[in-house]
Amino acid sequence: MVYKVLLVKYAEIGIKGKNRYVFEDALCDRIAEKLEKVAEGFEVVREQGRIKISCPDVYDFDETIAQLKTVFGIWEICPAVVIEDASWDSLVKGVGDYVEERYGDRKMTFKVEARRSDKSYPMTSPVIASEMGGCMLDRFPNLSVDVHKPEMLLYVEIRNMAYAYSESIKGLGGMPLGANGRAMLLLSGGIDSPVAGYMVAKRGIVIDAVYFHAPPYTSERAKQKVVDLAKLISVYTGPIRLHVVNFTDIQLAIIDKCPREELTIIMRRYMMRIAEIFAEKCKCQALITGESIGQVASQTPQSLLCTNAVCKLPVYRPVIAFDKQDIVDIAEKINTYETSIEPYEDCCTIFVAKHPVTKPYLNIIEHSEKKLNDVIDELMQKAIDTVEIIEVN
Ligand code: ATP
Ligand code: MG
Repeated sequence: MVYKVLLVKYAEIGIKGKNRYVFEDALCDRIAEKLEKVAEGFEVVREQGRIKISCPDVYDFDETIAQLKTVFGIWEICPAVVIEDASWDSLVKGVGDYVEERYGDRKMTFKVEARRSDKSYPMTSPVIASEMGGCMLDRFPNLSVDVHKPEMLLYVEIRNMAYAYSESIKGLGGMPLGANGRAMLLLSGGIDSPVAGYMVAKRGIVIDAVYFHAPPYTSERAKQKVVDLAKLISVYTGPIRLHVVNFTDIQLAIIDKCPREELTIIMRRYMMRIAEIFAEKCKCQALITGESIGQVASQTPQSLLCTNAVCKLPVYRPVIAFDKQDIVDIAEKINTYETSIEPYEDCCTIFVAKHPVTKPYLNIIEHSEKKLNDVIDELMQKAIDTVEIIEVN
């Protein structure tokens, strides 16, 4: 069956009052960008609480749906047939032809739902639904009505033309990218941070990313893994400007001057500080991390307090209260898990203390950091100046 139209339904963006068009336009743009990859000639327009995609004569349906399933903001995709002449007899024939082609003579229960946004149409929606139900029963002896749990929910919508559809393919939900600002993701090679970035992007936030590496202690392959992860989430989040920061000298200075059991916390504080500088350069309104309470020593509530203390921007931690398995489930769903578990070293794990502090006191950490005073400004500046920016797409 060839569908000429895909009707896209959205959930939350429908309730944004005067800003609604911003959301709808963002969603139209994101859809159009994705469909450009499938074929030429898709037309995406907003139409009374829906987005209507008019399809070209020739296109790959499965590929089209697969692309739409990567777009945040889509609640459902309904492949529909168009009945250009919506006068009653033509409508009945068109809807019947659709049912016949789609379901043949399968024995099944059904119910008709009707909507008319063309209020000049001579019948009301409930009348359209019940009359159309009767006509379908007349034409198809294999159908019977079940108003409570129908196997086929047959929608008939009358606008300037009429549409018939009975299938709804679930989209990702969330909000369209570009509807809600920008944030800087601290992206490591682990399981949690790609998931965190995905989750925040799902709320319509465009993301940039920063990765700290420590060559030669961390390898080129470890860096490539992070680039690969950025690429995997960019399927959903759109292009990502990945900032690769050389963290070696800062890390060595901390090791040299500060207590080893405080290394991880102090390191994390410098990561946040540097991430924030790039966030400001990129006009981000927030940072994002994959931190989750209690997962490791640096993520106890006291550790998070110490890390957070250096940030002026809000830090979004979408997986903060997730169990590991719940994070893994999302990682599998978005296809990052296999890459995340590749065994390459992270700068957080090299030189790590045997017994890192789990209950650091902020005043003690701040005191330890003072020992870096004569070198740290210069080292930070160098790390910032030597950043490598990779456009991941
Ligand atoms: P992940 O699975 O995301 O790597 P993790 O369980 O390994 O997290 P940590 O290593 O404590 O946890 O890191 C906590 C968070 O700090 C990460 O989720 C990430 O946002 C950030 N982070 C850690 N290491 C780096 C790094 N090398 N570069 C950028 N961000 C990092
Ligand atoms: Mg990690």
